[in-house]
Amino acid sequence: MSEKHTIDEQRVREHEPKQGIIVPLDLPEFEILSQSKGPGESLEVQVRAKQESAVCPRCGEESSKVHDSRKRVKRDIQLGAYQVYLVERIRRFRCETCAKPFTETDSACGKYQRTTERFRHQIAKQACQRPLTHVAQELEVGPRFVHDCLQAWIEKKLQKKGRSLDEQAKLPTPQILGIDEFALRKGHHYDTILCDLESRDVLEVGDGRKKEEVIELLERLRNPDAVKAVSMDMSASFRPAVQEALPKAQIVVDHFHVIQHLMKAFRKVLSSWAHRKEGIVLLHRKQHLFLKAKEDLTEAETQERERIGARLPLLEKAWQLKEALRAWYATATVADAAERLDAWIKHVQQEGPDALQKALSPFKNWRQEILAFFEYLPILVSNGFVEGKNNRTKAIMRQAYGYRNRHNLRMRILLGAGT
Ligand SMILES: [Zn+2]
Repeated sequence: MSEKHTIDEQRVREHEPKQGIIVPLDLPEFEILSQSKGPGESLEVQVRAKQESAVCPRCGEESSKVHDSRKRVKRDIQLGAYQVYLVERIRRFRCETCAKPFTETDSACGKYQRTTERFRHQIAKQACQRPLTHVAQELEVGPRFVHDCLQAWIEKKLQKKGRSLDEQAKLPTPQILGIDEFALRKGHHYDTILCDLESRDVLEVGDGRKKEEVIELLERLRNPDAVKAVSMDMSASFRPAVQEALPKAQIVVDHFHVIQHLMKAFRKVLSSWAHRKEGIVLLHRKQHLFLKAKEDLTEAETQERERIGARLPLLEKAWQLKEALRAWYATATVADAAERLDAWIKHVQQEGPDALQKALSPFKNWRQEILAFFEYLPILVSNGFVEGKNNRTKAIMRQAYGYRNRHNLRMRILLGAGT
C-alpha cells in the first residue's frame, strides 16, 4: 500500500467528525476517505477501492503491489440539490510476471467512463418518465448521452428477460398473440405492436403496418406454429399477413372492437335524434343515458331513459339492438353463439335504423373471427388488453414529445413490458 493512502485514511479520521454532510455512498466496493463541499452545489467524495489487489489483464496474475495512483473525478448521482462527484484514487498495480504496470478496473464506472454507472442509471430512469431533452437540460448533459444511458439500461433489463433491442432478434412465441397498430402522430406513419395476451407483455414494436412489414415481424417469432390465436381489430390490414405467416393460428376479433364498431353507428343514430325536433328537448343533456351500459345506469337514470325511449320508439329500438349485442357477448357460448348472432343480424336488418344496418358488413366479413372469440373467451375476456397497451403506448407518446422516432419510443415500450 502506498504512503498516500495511509495519509488519506488519517485525513478521514481527522476530518470526518467535522463534516456536516455525510453522503450515503452505497458503493460497497469503496471506502470513503473524506467528503467535502465542492464548488457550487456539489459534494466531493474522496474514495478508494477496498480491494487490496487486482488481476493483470495481460496474464491473469494477481498483484497487490501498487505502482502508483491517480486522481480521477467522476460524476456521480444527484442527491437532492447536490451533485456528487467521486474523486477516485485509481491505482496502477505492478505485475511481476509481465514486469509492467496495469490499471485496476473501475467497478463503479466501467472502462473509459467519466460518470458512475449508478448516475447513468439515474438518468435512464428519469428518461423513462420524461422527455430526453428535459432530462438532458436539467442535468446539464447532452441528449445523446441521455439516450445512450437509457439504451444501456434497457438493454441490461431486457437481457435479464432473454430479450434484446436488436430488431432482428427472435421473439418469444405467445400462445395468444395480440396485434395492433399505432401512429406516432395520427394519420402519419403507422407501426405495428405485438403483444403476448397471456403474460401481458409487449413483444415488439415493428416498423410499418404493410403486409410485407407485418409478415417480416411475425417471422421473427421463434416458433410460429405455437401461436394458437391472434387477436386483432377489424379495420386493420393484418389479416392477410397473419394468414400467411401464421397459417395455423385462429384469428380472433376481440369483443371490444366489435362493440366499439357498433357504438360508432349507434352514436350516429342518437345524435341524429338529438338534432330532430322530436328529440331536441328530450335528449338535451340526456344522450349519455343511451350511451352508458344498461347495467351501469342507476334506478333513476333507467326510468328517465325509458321515459325518453317511449317518446322516441325508433331510437329505443336502436338502443335495444345495441344492448342486445352486448348481451350476446355476455351470455352466448361456443354452442349457441353463431345461431344467436344470426338472429341479431336479422333483427337489425328488419327493424334497425340505416346507420346500424350499414354497420353490419363486418359481421359478414369477420364472422368466423368474431365467433372464434368465444373459444378464447377465458383469456380474452379480461377485455381489450392490446387496446389498453395501445392506450398506454399513446400516453407514453403524448408525454414523450422529445421522442421523434420509433427507436426511442420502442425502447420505452419494450421497457414497459412486464414492469
Ligand atoms: Zn501480467
